[in-house]
Amino acid sequence: MNSIHSAMVHRNSFEHRPSVLSDVIASAIVAALLLLAVESRAMGQHSDLPPFWKSRLSDVEEAVRQVHKGQAQVLTQSAGGRDIYLVTYGEKPNWHSTANFNSAVAGRDPASYALKDGTQPPVLFLLGPVHGQELEGIVGLVNLLNIAETGRDLRGREWTELSDNIDKCRVLIVPAGNPDGRARCGFDSWVGEELQTHERVGMGIGTDGRNLTWPSVKRFHPMGGPGVATLGAYWNDDAINLMHDEWFSPMAEKTRAWFKLAREEAPDYIVSLHSHAVSPSIEPTAYVPHTVKLTIQQIGDRMGNRYAAAGLPHRAGGPEPQIDGEKFPEPSFNLTSALHHACGAASFVYETPAGVITQSVPRLTHDQLLDLQLLFYDELFRFATEQPVNWAANRD
Ligand SMILES: [Zn+2]
Repeated sequence: MNSIHSAMVHRNSFEHRPSVLSDVIASAIVAALLLLAVESRAMGQHSDLPPFWKSRLSDVEEAVRQVHKGQAQVLTQSAGGRDIYLVTYGEKPNWHSTANFNSAVAGRDPASYALKDGTQPPVLFLLGPVHGQELEGIVGLVNLLNIAETGRDLRGREWTELSDNIDKCRVLIVPAGNPDGRARCGFDSWVGEELQTHERVGMGIGTDGRNLTWPSVKRFHPMGGPGVATLGAYWNDDAINLMHDEWFSPMAEKTRAWFKLAREEAPDYIVSLHSHAVSPSIEPTAYVPHTVKLTIQQIGDRMGNRYAAAGLPHRAGGPEPQIDGEKFPEPSFNLTSALHHACGAASFVYETPAGVITQSVPRLTHDQLLDLQLLFYDELFRFATEQPVNWAANRD
């Protein structure tokens, strides 16, 4: 299954070796390449990062070890054999489920899947970055774990309302959704870096030495093909883009684990955390009911207002509900669309800026990048606790 890696190994392994001399040259080149790799990796490691900027897999492990109020477990393992952690807070409600979600909907009663009558704690599932270079989401979730545990972020700043609201909810946090990709990303922060560098690490490098680019990287799945020299951090170790797995026959084990979790927990909200080079956004989810699109828009509106009040970059509002596929080509049925259909959640992508310095994108500090994420959580938990989901109001 690891075709891209074997392809990479072949390209670098000097398959035709006519003499001992060429072996020596080959070894020297390999050593030079390794040195280069180590150096470029070292370039990616900022030594002056603020202490609250916890984006590494070791930071996630440390944060998980510090969990006392909640419960931490290994949910599953990545394709590369790395642990994927789940931290939960609050009691799991008894949903009195008599049907899976889509059958319950067909029975005109979603409450047959999960008896939500407005009295249960809201359930939120926060899925850490499934794209390895989008490490900002890990920083936000590690800080959120600290807030859940102590009421303060890792800067020592108090988040009283957020902390209280977390206590009123059932919360499912997967701090790092793609540890394989994160391990392949030698950078711990993109603040002050060029967008080109970010793209190179995330999307990978072609055999012509040029950056591979979004969205054409999605034309190969699993990622690979003759044009790819280096796999970017976007994918897991099986070269799967976890936003675009095969939902009805998943290629990645963790896809199965997330869908099982969603089915069992019946979240009201699922957030898939991403980052990009422009202002923060909530992205539209295709192929979900209009009512769910409206909920996503409302959350986006409130987030925008919150950012505006804080003097942070923002958009005018949440995504306007669209009719899917009015124009060719149609939008993709991605992870967030598919998760909705497993459990009925308002499931969406949150994109935070990466902090790159390239022109026409907001220039932000580490502090601001963390503020953006924590304000989003503050607003989301407020929204969730203000209006508990009620599927049982008009039950016959
Ligand atoms: Zn992404």
